[in-house]
Amino acid sequence: MLDDLPASQITLYSILIFLFLENLINLYLTRRQIYVYQTSKDVPLELQGVMGKDTFEKARLYGLDKANFEVFKLLVCDIAISSIELYSGFIAMVWARATVLTAKLGMNIDSEIQVSIMFLVLINIIGTFKDMPFKIYSTFVLEDKHGFNKQTPGFFVKDQIKSFLLGQILSVPIVSAIVYIVQIGGDYFFIWLWAFMGVVSLVLITVYPVYIAPLFDKFRPLEEGKLKTSIENLAASLKFPLGKLFVVEGSKRSAHSNAYFTGLFGAKRIVLFDTLLINKGLSDDTDLTDDEKGKGCEDQEVLAVLAHELGHWKLGHIRKNIIIMQVQMFLLFIAFSQLFKYSPLYQAVGFPENVQPILIGFLVIAMYILAPYNTLISFGMTVLSRRFEYQADEFANGLGYSEDLGKALVKLNIDNLGFPVYDWMYSTWNHSHPTLLQRLERLKTLQRKDR
Ligand SMILES: [Zn+2]
Repeated sequence: MLDDLPASQITLYSILIFLFLENLINLYLTRRQIYVYQTSKDVPLELQGVMGKDTFEKARLYGLDKANFEVFKLLVCDIAISSIELYSGFIAMVWARATVLTAKLGMNIDSEIQVSIMFLVLINIIGTFKDMPFKIYSTFVLEDKHGFNKQTPGFFVKDQIKSFLLGQILSVPIVSAIVYIVQIGGDYFFIWLWAFMGVVSLVLITVYPVYIAPLFDKFRPLEEGKLKTSIENLAASLKFPLGKLFVVEGSKRSAHSNAYFTGLFGAKRIVLFDTLLINKGLSDDTDLTDDEKGKGCEDQEVLAVLAHELGHWKLGHIRKNIIIMQVQMFLLFIAFSQLFKYSPLYQAVGFPENVQPILIGFLVIAMYILAPYNTLISFGMTVLSRRFEYQADEFANGLGYSEDLGKALVKLNIDNLGFPVYDWMYSTWNHSHPTLLQRLERLKTLQRKDR
């Protein structure tokens, strides 16, 4: 029976079936976690005395709301809309519109680069509007209901416009260059493509924290004082090339707290979220709500969190991730170079027989043809990331911070209303970090070993 179907139909059905199966797995796992939210009524033994029954209940309801929304999104976006789009040749329709618009604007429709730019902008506009109801619901209904939304509608709109414009400013030249390199690069264009994207990604990693992140959030230097001195001492003891120390007012966007450091070469900057720091007038905002007072960590706990972060640096986790990313990119470009002349790929998403735009080939191969491979790799990266987290915890333990790190993890979890109980299958598939209880358990084991 398969023999009767043209190759393009077989390609389309394979894509649809895989996407459906993958989303079915996601649905099943999320349902399992929902069952955990519905049935966990007691604070786990390990957290009794630190996490109150009230907080536990709040976290449970917050988790339940998020998971139900996740199911809704999976059904509507990932299953229904995606399948309809694929089946109805939506991508080819947008390409046709882009060609018409290119002509209308007096540009050259014979230039594949110009039509590709138009296509890119169009598809991004459509995507932004498609996501908007979900984003608005998530920010102003879901997060708001649980006290995490700090955005006003005005801030939200400005934020969305800024990130849309930035997306276009970055992606238009990059995509134009990709199409151009494929056009002129000869049989081994994938090597040039890889070299180009390698440089672009390194430049972006370097430029992002210094020039781009400040467009979205307010950064201020950490004020002089005991905490700053202790951080500098900790960094110096590990020979960490500390540049500047910043606090980001992340709480304007949302109240989920964290800390990170940036910079590939030379001096690195450490960034602390203001929500990590204890709220006692450190921020220039004096109008803290009752909810915010007393949130955050003591200095010693902040240091423990930083010891963990510095562990990522000392153990070369960032470097390893970048190398893996570059290898991935190389493999993707080789796959693309081998497959992109195969016309059924284009017909599968609705294109007529002789139209094979480079950008479309790239999207179809990267997103759909390689989808099973992408799923496997992303699972592998999740597993690796959890290993790195344990290793960074172990590093902090080696510096004598295990008790403070444990306390900080519990506090941050409570401040973020994180629910401590997880279905093991859901967690294994989704979590880039071990769960709170897993990390506490491991920290305890490490402490016992050291004694
Ligand atoms: Zn970490």
